[in-house]
Amino acid sequence: MQIYTKILLGMAVGTVVGLTLGPNSSLLEADVYSLRDGGAAEVRLDPAQPATALPLPKGMALKVDILEPPDPGPLQANQPAEAWAKVNLVLNERMLLANKGRVAELVEKARPGTVVAAWLQIRYLPLEGGGHQATPVPISGLGDQVIAFVHPIGEVFMRGIKMVIVPLVFASLLVGIASLGDIRKLGRLGGRTLALYMITTAVAVTIGLLVAHIIQPGEFIDAADKARLTAQFAGDVGDKAAKAAAAPSTIENLLNIIPENPLQALTNGDMLQIIFFAVVFGIALTMLGEGEGKIVVTFFDKVQHAMIMVIHMVMAVAPYGVAALVAEVVGQSGASVLGALLVYGLTVVVGLFLHATLVYGGLVRVLAKVPLMGFLKAIRPAQLIAFSTSSSSAALPVSMECAEDNLGVSNSVSSFVLPLGSTVNMDGTALYQGVAALFIAQVFDIQLTLGDQLSIVGAATMASVGAAGVPGAGMVTLAMVLTASGIPQVGLALILGMDRLLDMFRTAVNVTGDLSVTTVMAVAEGETIDPLSSAEDAKDPNRGFEGRLDREPEPIEPDQG
Ligand code: ASP
Repeated sequence: MQIYTKILLGMAVGTVVGLTLGPNSSLLEADVYSLRDGGAAEVRLDPAQPATALPLPKGMALKVDILEPPDPGPLQANQPAEAWAKVNLVLNERMLLANKGRVAELVEKARPGTVVAAWLQIRYLPLEGGGHQATPVPISGLGDQVIAFVHPIGEVFMRGIKMVIVPLVFASLLVGIASLGDIRKLGRLGGRTLALYMITTAVAVTIGLLVAHIIQPGEFIDAADKARLTAQFAGDVGDKAAKAAAAPSTIENLLNIIPENPLQALTNGDMLQIIFFAVVFGIALTMLGEGEGKIVVTFFDKVQHAMIMVIHMVMAVAPYGVAALVAEVVGQSGASVLGALLVYGLTVVVGLFLHATLVYGGLVRVLAKVPLMGFLKAIRPAQLIAFSTSSSSAALPVSMECAEDNLGVSNSVSSFVLPLGSTVNMDGTALYQGVAALFIAQVFDIQLTLGDQLSIVGAATMASVGAAGVPGAGMVTLAMVLTASGIPQVGLALILGMDRLLDMFRTAVNVTGDLSVTTVMAVAEGETIDPLSSAEDAKDPNRGFEGRLDREPEPIEPDQG
């Protein structure tokens, strides 16, 4: 079975596991409550006696079985209410450590794992459009355990792939720049790449705004959903807004490209600093000339080859890792959020699809004259990894492999254009920000002038340059985009529940954009792009994704002398 098929199967399995066994699955929504923030709940051994309150450390997740459901009596519209649920509470280590004396005073033989019957206060918050929201939210404790079980599997894959990023990018960029040999050529490539990246991003936001104007997703959300989503996710908004406010200014961002300490840049994985240093280092080597520079270039060339072998090893576990990552995201998003935000989510996906087909299709087919099907097939591994990890950075090693092996782009173009794109070019993210901003404005009945919308285009284009290629980065920079256009940041709460799922789609588009621009750049540099066919891939163990691990390892003795 081909690697793509295995990864696709992994995704399908992950989706089914997430939907059926995840924390928000309605199948498992049994009599188990889980509190994400234990500090927000009042737990007493006797509901009538405040003195029996069990101290909960702040932020502690708490799992309980409901023995007797809460009975709030008749609920009054717009009035909050409270009720007590009888629960089986398992004392855990953190709880005991945080306040051992007090718990031991209340509970005989208090030790981790002891189960006590306690009472848990449930609050009923009135919703704007009528009805109440009960917190803690009933979700499945078993679902959380399923996620906790699959999480390490996804993490093994994520860490494996991230492990390759820094050495691969540094080594291959250094070799790529050294082999260019001509600084003017680099300047031309850099200028054109940045220009095309910016243009595609601005077009992406505009498409996002247009589809949101046509579909009007904000009209499909009713007052109850609005209140529920705002109540559920309001707590997380402050965090995103604070991160956005703490973001450095444009000048600082530009200065930051020059590393004070290149080794620190490498350890921190700061992509723009790494690119800068590798470019300067590579140019310096070409100035030393073949005689002195060759040994360094050859060394890093071999490092690069070895890192490519590591990618292939990691790709061998990709189907399992992908299944775990997808199960986690789908499981945590849950079907209820999906239902409420379905039209909004679809608007984003329609926009992304239009952008990918019109803009990338145009670039690849018309500008680069490369057959679309061959191109899509060649970049599929990178798209699948981007989709399942929601990180353009994590997908970078695979994107470079796809560009060089599957498309035939030269190392000097791919090693420069792709790492740059993974941080600077995020069309999917920018498009999504356009839709999200308009959606929030529609829900809150805010009229946006043409000027406001132009500032969304400008801010989202700049924000996509500043956003890191990691999961959820676009949500943080969305806070900045909203501020730029005067849309209240609390609107973020509306879309947070859906964010992680949409992140998968937009990251796949981000990576497709990077690879499309790389293809155009390679053609502009006079290269011939020849997508690898499946038959060639299967036959040649030195190109493509099949059969790369079939080599026999050989011992290597260092030269003596
Ligand atoms: N996850 C995206 C990426 O890595 C960024 C974002 O939109 O959050 O490309």
